[in-house]
Amino acid sequence: MDIHSPQRWASFLHEAINLAREAELRGNLPIGAVILLDGEIIGRMNSIWQPRLDLTRHAEMDALREVQPDLWQKSGEMILLTTLEPCLMCAGAILLHRIGYLIFGSSDPIGGVSSALPSLPPYFQEQFSLIRWVGPAFAKDCDPLYSRVKELERLRGTSALFSAADGHARSSSDVRIQ
Ligand SMILES: [Zn+2]
Repeated sequence: MDIHSPQRWASFLHEAINLAREAELRGNLPIGAVILLDGEIIGRMNSIWQPRLDLTRHAEMDALREVQPDLWQKSGEMILLTTLEPCLMCAGAILLHRIGYLIFGSSDPIGGVSSALPSLPPYFQEQFSLIRWVGPAFAKDCDPLYSRVKELERLRGTSALFSAADGHARSSSDVRIQ
């Protein structure tokens, strides 16, 4: 199979899907990501911004944080697989790290970066021209997860997203998905 075919990496997508399901069981949005190098997972994480509020803890961000520093010299050979189209923050981090290949499962027309791509700052435009950016590559597998993301966001829309006891009560209207 063509090394650039997203299907070649489908088995690793299932690891990301499992991570997404684990996240939902813990009260987070069902989103998961893995980073591959030389056919092995070197970073994996899911969305874990609850119960301690930290909205930067998206699956892709924490997967990037898991990579051993000495491996970054090979970032151009890394593949990041995520169940959902990255948001603006994660896309920026992925481009800053100069990951070689990004594959996302489902499109996210609400919080995904696609609509912002034509107007990226010059540095990020240049980096985007260098990355292989592919998706939605696994809609059949990942759209059900995205449906759950939207449903959970809708359910949280009418109530406080985080408990006042946590000291971080706020409305979910302040929160973008993924
Ligand atoms: Zn994100």
